[in-house]
Amino acid sequence: MNLIYEQSVAGRRGVRLPASDVPAADSLPVELLRCEPAELPQVSELDTVRHFTNLSRRNYSVDTHFYPLGSCTMKYNVKAVENAAGLFAAEHPLLPLLPGGLEHAQGSLGLLHGLGLALAEITGMDEVTTQPLAGAHGEMTGIMLIAAYHRAKGNKKRYVVVPDSSHGTNPASAAMVGYEIITIPTAPYGDMDPELFRAAMSDQVAAVMMTCPNTLGLFNPHIREICDIAHSFDALCYYDGANLNAIMGKVRPGDVGFDVIHLNLHKTFGTPHGGGGPGSGPVGVKEALIPFLPVPRIVKKDAGFALETDNSTSIGRTANFFGNFGVMVKAYAYILLLGREGLIRVSEQAVLNANYMMARLKGYYDLPYDFTCMHECVFSASRQVKQGVHALDIAKFLIDKGYHPPTIYFPLIVKDAIMIEPTETESRETMDLFIQVMIEAAELAESDPGAFAALPATMPVSRLDETRAARSQNVCFAGC
Ligand SMILES: *Cc1c(COP(=O)(O)O)cnc(C)c1O
Repeated sequence: MNLIYEQSVAGRRGVRLPASDVPAADSLPVELLRCEPAELPQVSELDTVRHFTNLSRRNYSVDTHFYPLGSCTMKYNVKAVENAAGLFAAEHPLLPLLPGGLEHAQGSLGLLHGLGLALAEITGMDEVTTQPLAGAHGEMTGIMLIAAYHRAKGNKKRYVVVPDSSHGTNPASAAMVGYEIITIPTAPYGDMDPELFRAAMSDQVAAVMMTCPNTLGLFNPHIREICDIAHSFDALCYYDGANLNAIMGKVRPGDVGFDVIHLNLHKTFGTPHGGGGPGSGPVGVKEALIPFLPVPRIVKKDAGFALETDNSTSIGRTANFFGNFGVMVKAYAYILLLGREGLIRVSEQAVLNANYMMARLKGYYDLPYDFTCMHECVFSASRQVKQGVHALDIAKFLIDKGYHPPTIYFPLIVKDAIMIEPTETESRETMDLFIQVMIEAAELAESDPGAFAALPATMPVSRLDETRAARSQNVCFAGC
């Protein structure tokens, strides 16, 4: 009995409302009146509580389980930052725009301004806008800023260069802004090679977009050289900083030549990624791009924080109000809570954990790019594929063992990729248990590869059409 309607028994009740003492209205249009009572489920309070509690336990979350979904940084986020967001819950987003409201919104504007300063310091940029609502939205904002820069200079630009390991949102964002894409194949050492990059460059290139560490979890040792080459063609360098968890306090993209960066606060800074919840993708820029930043820009004046809205060179607004404010409160609280030393330790521990995972599993899964990794490691199930067992089958095995599977089939350049990101918040014991289960999967692929076809066996539903499961959900009650 999955649906509360199926548990309905005529006459059973969970609540009793007092008799209405509100006089009946006689002015409602007749076509709006209900002709028959609503068909609500008739269930007891206990059955209702059990029903919803059991449904909630089918959710998978970091609060209940290990969640090594590569590139998503599903770390545990301390409850203290949630509490901080709650402190601001009552403030209306229109407050700063109301007459006299600016004065009452000084705390919130100061928080946004302070967060921008902190993120600029962490990334080595000159100013940060906190408006964009997600990573991909930040990318689009960043590429629009780059386009505005070139337009203002009279540059004729047509292309954006990306490596073939890039996150799909990179070429998609550049294409949405109107650029054509040039893709550079990954070198055998797992990164974009400066000579291949140089060969693709011309005066028509607007920007190069790089993720560093890239989606193989590797840090490109040639980024400064690549930035220098790009700048010699007046192309700008865009840093996809979605996965900043690997480098905080270790390297500042602005110091090695990048001009624009976006961050995912909903990965590294206090909010989990995924689940369709709110996100935030602030964009940092170097000085030459400040004139184009979205409005309203929060500026600090002698009398307090003010909103700058009249800027004819701005790309305009990119989000309603001030973006996803609650996510920013959590990020600010997270940064203040950890401080400089804490953020550095986060990155060190995240990288250590990923390398531990890589070293322990190397004997069981192929590792196509066998180098010291950063925050995540990428295996290939190619050895298991020889037995007919694919990355997807291993993912289903893990579900039955109580784990959210790692990211699979991404990055695209690794056959049957299995991308594991343990994050800094997981203990050695948790990682050891997961490693043991990954080893069991590799052993089962040798001894009984046919067994995978029936997995997962413990879930309410087994194998779904993954595209339709996400895009054509049937969320109706029984009978429709
Ligand atoms: C997650 C991610 C993005 C996109 O972020 P969204 O908030 O999901 O739009 C972009 N690039 C990389 C490398 C990522 O890991």
